Amino acid sequence: MQLIDGKALANKVQTEVAEEVERLKQEKNVVPGLAVILVGDDPASHAYVKMKAKACEKVGFYSITHNMPDTISQSEIIQIIEMMNANPHIDGILVQLPLPKHIDTDKILEVIDPKKDVDGFHAYNVGRLVTNLDSFVPCTPLGVMKMFEAYDIDLEGKDVCVVGASNIVGKPMAALLLNANATVTVTHIYTKDLKAHTAKADIVVVGVGVPGLIKEDMVKEGAVVIDIGINRIEDGSLVGDVDFPKVSKKCSYITPVPGGVGPMTIAMLLSNTLKAAKARA
Ligand code: NAD
Repeated sequence: MQLIDGKALANKVQTEVAEEVERLKQEKNVVPGLAVILVGDDPASHAYVKMKAKACEKVGFYSITHNMPDTISQSEIIQIIEMMNANPHIDGILVQLPLPKHIDTDKILEVIDPKKDVDGFHAYNVGRLVTNLDSFVPCTPLGVMKMFEAYDIDLEGKDVCVVGASNIVGKPMAALLLNANATVTVTHIYTKDLKAHTAKADIVVVGVGVPGLIKEDMVKEGAVVIDIGINRIEDGSLVGDVDFPKVSKKCSYITPVPGGVGPMTIAMLLSNTLKAAKARA
């Protein structure tokens, strides 16, 4: 079994981004800028935003966080996004999800200029991804694709089972895999017999938010297992959706949690923001 070291790969990507930022500054006098919109006081969202801001600083980006109370109205959030759309120093706009219940998330995401949509959640970018055109791709599944590439894991013709079908994880993951010529099965909470699908897959990619959902008998010998789940359990530690100690014994490759897909998500956010800044330059 080989561990896929997301932390090391993310550090490598960040170093490359930092080098390109330096070049962009010198040659075009452009500094990539990211605006983060954070609503409410969800501790996990605050922690993620802090990590993103720190990563931006590390690679030399300009970044601002609009931190707003959860009493804010939808139109006030829209106003801020429109300001960021018009701001020439901002290349990427990210709205930290989830938003409070009184806000229509789909409406908010549609307001972001698709050219600044570094999370890849705008329907314009989703459509381009599905049709295999150049687009901003959601950071988590993009990070998983980067892992496959870095570890020379061939996807063409492979049977891949994606577990979880959310707009930000499972669906874009499935689209990317399909674009890479894999045979993709997408499973979710209504799937009748999950094991029947995961057990025959060459590659299992799981992102659901259920600790230990993927057990030893659900994975075939030599499979590649990518664990996107992040769950905080009772003792305070972080675990994924895979029963790592047992499943890892059967795998050819597996990602750990923490230190797997998580760091790649932030690295891909930097990479997407750099891409937007280059387009501006
Ligand atoms: P979500 O709640 O929006 O979607 C969960 C999906 O899993 C749904 O499609 C649902 O049908 C499916 N599901 C739920 N229980 C299931 C079960 N028992 N069997 C099969 N399918 C089931 O969640 P999300 O935003 O997609 O996040 C999923 C997980 O990925 C969470 O643990 C989240 O923390 C993690 N996540 C990690 C990163 C990262 O950077 N590593 C990024 C985003 C999300």
